[in-house]
Amino acid sequence: MKENHKWEKKLASSGFRMTTGRRAIINVLYKNVKHLSAEDIYMVLHPQFPNIGLTTVYRTLELLEQTGIAAKFEFGHGKAKYELTEEYSTKKHHHHLICRNCRTIIDYSDFMEDELTYIAKTESGLSKKYKFLIDNHIINFLGLCSKCRSK
Ligand SMILES: [Zn+2]
Ligand SMILES: [Zn+2]
Ligand SMILES: [Zn+2]
Repeated sequence: MKENHKWEKKLASSGFRMTTGRRAIINVLYKNVKHLSAEDIYMVLHPQFPNIGLTTVYRTLELLEQTGIAAKFEFGHGKAKYELTEEYSTKKHHHHLICRNCRTIIDYSDFMEDELTYIAKTESGLSKKYKFLIDNHIINFLGLCSKCRSK
């Protein structure tokens, strides 16, 4: 798996070693299309890796965020969710709809045409205005999902 190599290189360039625990945690994120909390990951790993404690999972996720391997979605104390960043996952480019209430995160890549036009215009305007070379963007919309709205 070529990603395995990428993760290892990225960790090394930030001064960290790849360990069994770190690899196991990255793998759970890699194989899962959902955005996972530390507890979710702990539950998945526990049967196979009983030595990996929840604290290790928390620490590892912080490390992965610091090094840019994972993206963090904040929901208040201890409730963050994670996914691998675009460069380190197989998921294609997507935007997010994030429900503040139930912490559901919807990935969508069936972009609306207006959305694409708007992003392209915004990017070209910003690069001119700030002489900034834009090569990607992260778009998160926050609010309430349909289930939470109907309550
Ligand atoms: Zn986009
Ligand atoms: Zn919701
Ligand atoms: Zn996502």
